[in-house]
Amino acid sequence: MKKSLFLLVLVLFIQSSVAQSIYILCGKLIDTKSGKIHSKKTIVVKQNKIYKVMDGFVSPKSKTAKTIDLKDKVVMPGLIDMHVHIEMEFDAKTRINRYINNEADVAFNSVGFAKSTLLNGFTTVRDLGGTGVNISIRNAIEAGKIPGPRVFTAGKSLATTGGHADPTNGSSRKLIGNPGPKEGVVNSVEDAKKAVRQRYKNGADCIKITATGGVLSVAKSGDNPQFTIEEVKAICDTAKDYGMHVAAHAHGDEGMQRAIIGGVKTIEHGTYMSDETMELMKKHDAYLVPTITAGKEVAEKATVKGFYPEIVVPKALAVGPQIQGTFAKAYKKGVGIAFGTDAGVFKHGNNGKEFGFMLEAGMPAMETIQSATITNAMLLKMENEIGQIKEGFFADIIAVDDDPTKNISTMENVVFVMKNGVVYKK
Ligand SMILES: [Zn+2]
Repeated sequence: MKKSLFLLVLVLFIQSSVAQSIYILCGKLIDTKSGKIHSKKTIVVKQNKIYKVMDGFVSPKSKTAKTIDLKDKVVMPGLIDMHVHIEMEFDAKTRINRYINNEADVAFNSVGFAKSTLLNGFTTVRDLGGTGVNISIRNAIEAGKIPGPRVFTAGKSLATTGGHADPTNGSSRKLIGNPGPKEGVVNSVEDAKKAVRQRYKNGADCIKITATGGVLSVAKSGDNPQFTIEEVKAICDTAKDYGMHVAAHAHGDEGMQRAIIGGVKTIEHGTYMSDETMELMKKHDAYLVPTITAGKEVAEKATVKGFYPEIVVPKALAVGPQIQGTFAKAYKKGVGIAFGTDAGVFKHGNNGKEFGFMLEAGMPAMETIQSATITNAMLLKMENEIGQIKEGFFADIIAVDDDPTKNISTMENVVFVMKNGVVYKK
């Protein structure tokens, strides 16, 4: 008797906790698939998923259900940034910090970066390179130990010797050692395969290569090609074996072409992209990740004396102002655009600025939001789980005050954030 009573109570308890749902009343709701804005909708969330989307404002019948009133807000799916560096944030001390900070320091710093990213509406990010601590950050967020976005990370980026992501650039020769595939430095087809497999072993979700020189590395060229086409191909083919896609940092045209032909899925920055390369992007179904916000930031910070090492300044002044114009041209030509900012080059949490810069360059506001939701979800092979407010999708839901198609700056002021059914900001 006693035992069956206990079981009954247990069953009732489980039922009530399973049934506990959240009703979100949305004044306006953006349908990212159709690009339409609907009025008066109710989203029902159960645990970490969207259970139902209903017309009108619906009140829950169950007493245990909660209601969240967003009747005067514009609601949309959580945003996805395809290019962040969750481990770091550039400042005048960045160069010296590389020699002072231990992994634990990097990890503690990243806690605030991850939180700020999430609280500003970015519920998913693709992290394109750090020391490898980024893999632990992803795991800590996933385990619920720290608040942050869902992270897909490349771990440590791959470079060639002296290339943009060679971790020993600008070091005293006493400290250089001989970095190889394990550290993400490759100089042959064999190295390339080994480096990809090492990233897989380390727990990376995707691969990032630095196909050309870069602005912020302590090296002279910001745009020269830095991999042979055979090396790029070896990286992309090996990555495919492990279900990983490859992203390529690229400013110069030649390196970009090798990357696209080699099988890279996204071109990051794309600064000096020629018309011919834009056509090549379309032909190979590669996407441009614009990072306009980072371009603006480096051009501005290059004028602050001592902010960057001296070798970086001319590169930042040349590359930074070009990025927005190239994006405008590529968009007009019909190149696929994947929203991405390079947060970490600027302050984490300011990712929403990119929307305004994209609009300014000619992309309609709704398309910028679609780029940051459905396009990016598709590229991450998550198109049936994130990027839309739809039955069965993860409950990643955010809200802003205004209609972004009338006031794009509202995207810089996200007022409500839910990720996986948990409210982080209200
Ligand atoms: Zn970057």
